[in-house]
Amino acid sequence: MFTQDTIERFKELETPFYYYDTEVLRSTLNACRDASSKYGFHVHYAMKANFNPAVVDAIQSYGFGADCVSGGEVRYAIEHGFDKSKVVFAGVGKSDKEINEALDAAIFCFNVESVQELEIINELAAARGKVAGVAIRINPNVDAHTHHFITTGLDENKFGVNTWQLNDVVAALRKSANLKFLGIHFHIGSQITDMEVYKSLCIRINEMQDWFEDHGFQIKVLNTGGGLGVDYHNPDSNGIADFESYFAVFKKFLNVKPGQEVHFELGRAMVAQCASLISRVLYVKMGQKKNFLVLDAGMTELIRPMLYQAYHQIENLSRTTGAEDQETNSHLHYDVVGPICESTDCFRKDVELPVSQRGDLIAVRTAGAYGEVMASNYNLRERAPSVYA
Ligand SMILES: *Cc1c(COP(=O)(O)O)cnc(C)c1O
Repeated sequence: MFTQDTIERFKELETPFYYYDTEVLRSTLNACRDASSKYGFHVHYAMKANFNPAVVDAIQSYGFGADCVSGGEVRYAIEHGFDKSKVVFAGVGKSDKEINEALDAAIFCFNVESVQELEIINELAAARGKVAGVAIRINPNVDAHTHHFITTGLDENKFGVNTWQLNDVVAALRKSANLKFLGIHFHIGSQITDMEVYKSLCIRINEMQDWFEDHGFQIKVLNTGGGLGVDYHNPDSNGIADFESYFAVFKKFLNVKPGQEVHFELGRAMVAQCASLISRVLYVKMGQKKNFLVLDAGMTELIRPMLYQAYHQIENLSRTTGAEDQETNSHLHYDVVGPICESTDCFRKDVELPVSQRGDLIAVRTAGAYGEVMASNYNLRERAPSVYA
């Protein structure tokens, strides 16, 4: 929801830009902290969702850890004050250089995705006279019931170790003097709103930890990954992810033994609602079959709709000033598209909006996660700046 003052402020600014609402960010982080801390759960922020410095600094100030998927993110997390004992490093393709840097930074844990990676981390740690903390990322074959482009926990996905490879994993762990086994790690997908999925995950985690204990390995860390979804359809009336239900599922179904820590890696749920992409209508093309609103923002600013058919709420801020306007203003259907030379550069088809004109301000909502971080210079476009509330 944008106040009239905010919209007036937008009118003075060049578009497109990302608008960050720090109030929304803070209330989300408060909700996440309150819901997790009552069970003593540890939350790591999945840095890849948004590494805007103001966002990252706010998250760090709450004492959350950092979940990184590249050497660059590990470095960035430490530069931004995250405690290295709360930095974890996942990724199916960690390079030797990235592993060495993370060893030198003495991060808490590598979430290891293959037997070969275990062997390489052991070798590199030995060469530096270090011991690396490791957790095994297991592919639990749990269907996240989310879009197949963002599912990661099925046998057919590239991530993690499949259960039939676990004998090789324990064999590698037994002969690796420079690895310290910390526990097991999972991450089954993103934008998950069905809590039954997490219940299924808990059941698999319980089985897996029993398996490791039967093979003589003590588990200190149960890392359940992330993936909690947000409401892209109702950013104002349902603006905070359901952290309460989410953590309660793990409290209820995860078999946590004395001395064990439960870790989470949340990205989207922490940052999605705090930002909108603000742009202007450049041209209105009225056709016989279709009408188009051509915006000054496109897939170079926000690629989610084009990359994985993601839904975003689209609002004309210049035309929605009050309830009575909704009734008197007539509406039309538009395909809302960007200026990029690609047919897929469309935010959404058949969007019902008040009759719109060149110069109108358009907000694409819930753009805080996997938005600005995926921006590119394709077509030699300039990077859209960030504006803060
Ligand atoms: C991306 C990612 C996350 C965060 O996912 P969200 O859906 O943004 O919560 C957590 N863990 C790992 C390993 C990831 O790659």
